[in-house]
Amino acid sequence: MMMEIGMRLDYIYSWKEHSMIFAMPNKPGEFSRFDFPEVLPAPFNGIWAILKNSEMLTWPEKVKFAIGLLPAILGGQSYVEAQDGLTVKEWMRKQGVPDRVTEEVFIAMSKALNFINPDELSMQCILIALNRFLQEKHGSKMAFLDGNPPERLCMPIVNHIQSLGGEVRLNSRIQNIELNNDGTVQSFLLNNGNVIEGDAYVFATPVDILKLLLPENWKAIPYFQRLEKLVGVPVINVHIWFDRKLKNTYDHLLFSRSQLLSVYADMSVTCKEYYNPNQSMLELVFAPGEEWISCSDSDIIDATMKELAKLFPDEISADQSKAKIVKYHVVKTPRSVYKNVPNCEPCRPLQRSPVEGFYLAGDYTKQKYLASMEGAVLSGKLCAQAIVQDYALLDARGKTRLAQASIW
Ligand SMILES: Cc1cc2nc3c(=O)[nH]c(=O)nc-3n(C[C@H](O)[C@H](O)[C@H](O)COP(=O)(O)OP(=O)(O)OC[C@H]3O[C@@H](n4cnc5c(N)ncnc54)[C@H](O)[C@@H]3O)c2cc1C
Repeated sequence: MMMEIGMRLDYIYSWKEHSMIFAMPNKPGEFSRFDFPEVLPAPFNGIWAILKNSEMLTWPEKVKFAIGLLPAILGGQSYVEAQDGLTVKEWMRKQGVPDRVTEEVFIAMSKALNFINPDELSMQCILIALNRFLQEKHGSKMAFLDGNPPERLCMPIVNHIQSLGGEVRLNSRIQNIELNNDGTVQSFLLNNGNVIEGDAYVFATPVDILKLLLPENWKAIPYFQRLEKLVGVPVINVHIWFDRKLKNTYDHLLFSRSQLLSVYADMSVTCKEYYNPNQSMLELVFAPGEEWISCSDSDIIDATMKELAKLFPDEISADQSKAKIVKYHVVKTPRSVYKNVPNCEPCRPLQRSPVEGFYLAGDYTKQKYLASMEGAVLSGKLCAQAIVQDYALLDARGKTRLAQASIW
């Protein structure tokens, strides 16, 4: 998408080496790597990465897991979708993969993909990610934005919209969806009192906000009723600035495999804007967040420091007798991406709703990627496609409305 709006990718992203790096909870301070060789195409680069790693999976475990994955590789999307009824833990047990692998390896992937543990996450989610890794050479390659998202990601998009005559209004929340007598949308009422009227209405908020603002008349429509199952998952983001440079880290995203934390990175190394040769700034995802979302920031920081003491045994201790916190910032998101538990897939809505002229966009709507920025972008494209397909109908509706307005 960024290339489509004329951005140079090397201006906004810094790509990291093609690896996945996991902390080793039973060997504090050590890491285990899956390195995807550049010379091999997919899926051989991924198979090579798994075969070469001897710390996280034993040979019998690798064989069991590979046999379990065969139907996904051969059966493709229909097999993947059929696994939506099982959690990761249930699927692994069905394949005879020991619980150890689920609890020690797939915990990292589950938390990174959906901020929940393998006993809750739908196996479909893991299979979609693994299929992508096995089908696309760079499917698992990671990049960091070179700076803060509002400047690096949002501003170029805003500039592009404005250059085409569009308008972007900030701090303008939809407060109410006003309806015509026939149940179609008359307007969006904003929290600043402004009223927005259009030929087509796109609702691109998180699913929980849509459910909150859903007009009474629409609640009996099965398309909207199915949204009940889609609920945002709580997650917490923790940023800690330390008084010194931490050594036990990489220029990469790291999977903590800790009970409380998910992925983390030293932003003073991975991100140009936060580069600092003398002090580290760790950004961590604290997940699952369910039990912690209502706790105080200082309780969350204390718990994070206890986990960090295991990841940096020589450099961090929970009582700050080693590295000291200069400042911290805790960002709580009580409802983030939809919780991908079993049997959610049939509840994800298509972008075109049954209400004429009303469309949905957002990562929770039906699209082939997961709850991600990529998925959100794809949903926007599918939404635009539906509007273009409906152009004649929308145009006719717009003309009728104009005619009625001029009669009045
Ligand atoms: C901690 C965390 C880390 C993540 N890391 C990654 C990552 O590394 N890579 C990745 O691809 N994805 C990541 N994600 C997921 C990614 O952020 C989401 O998948 C993506 O932002 C979803 O986009 P969206 O447009 O569907 O929804 P959102 O990005 O949530 O956008 C919805 C918009 O609706 C607005 N809104 C809310 N209420 C109203 C209202 N009443 N009226 C009008 N507007 C309203 C909101 O302000 C928001 O701007 C992460 C998510 C979290 C929470």
